[in-house]
Amino acid sequence: MNDRNNDSFTRDKVLRCAQDDRRFYLTRPALPTRKSRIPAGRETFLRTKALCAYLCGEFFLPVHASHTPVFPAPTPEPLPQRLARVGLRATRQRVLILDGLLTLPGHPTAEQVHQHVTRQVPSISLGTVYKTLDSFVAAGLTRRVASAEGSSRRFDADCTEHHHLFCTNTQEIIDYCDPQLDALIRDFFATKGLPDFQPRSFSLHITGDKVTGPQLRADEPPSAG
Ligand SMILES: [Zn+2]
Repeated sequence: MNDRNNDSFTRDKVLRCAQDDRRFYLTRPALPTRKSRIPAGRETFLRTKALCAYLCGEFFLPVHASHTPVFPAPTPEPLPQRLARVGLRATRQRVLILDGLLTLPGHPTAEQVHQHVTRQVPSISLGTVYKTLDSFVAAGLTRRVASAEGSSRRFDADCTEHHHLFCTNTQEIIDYCDPQLDALIRDFFATKGLPDFQPRSFSLHITGDKVTGPQLRADEPPSAG
């Protein structure tokens, strides 16, 4: 029996965040199988045919998996509490703007968040949305993301350490987490060092195109026939 083929995580290559329903597309298994390689504070639970992972503080499920998770999904933190945690008063506008950030796919722009919020508050100005997003960034609730537009115009409600896949066709920015890759990068800089610079964190921005058809895995040789 080939465990790899029976592993719904590697087969589906798509994970759904149970907190906000975002989709994460992976081209190869993102998690090492040895728990010792998981960074402190991140817990991973592996099963033979299904995988449930607490990764980057979020709970992921394979999209097409027909299994019941062994561990219950954590209850998402209510938006007013998220705001209060960083010292921001939970006004209706702030809650709606944060909701837009979490709901809109692909790391939205301020304009997209504004459009989302005007469905409920038609009078809100784009300037207010910009100012609110800036206050979220300053409070550490949100971060800016570099994109093809050349500046940090896009926003990310996930401030945990992760990488980004940027699709040049759809302009989507897709979150990508891989503790094995993180360990490689950390080891590299620990060994090689950087002149006159102490790295604190890192985030890769990988540019490419989303592929929808079947792909050859990087660790599998082409079949002979
Ligand atoms: Zn992100």
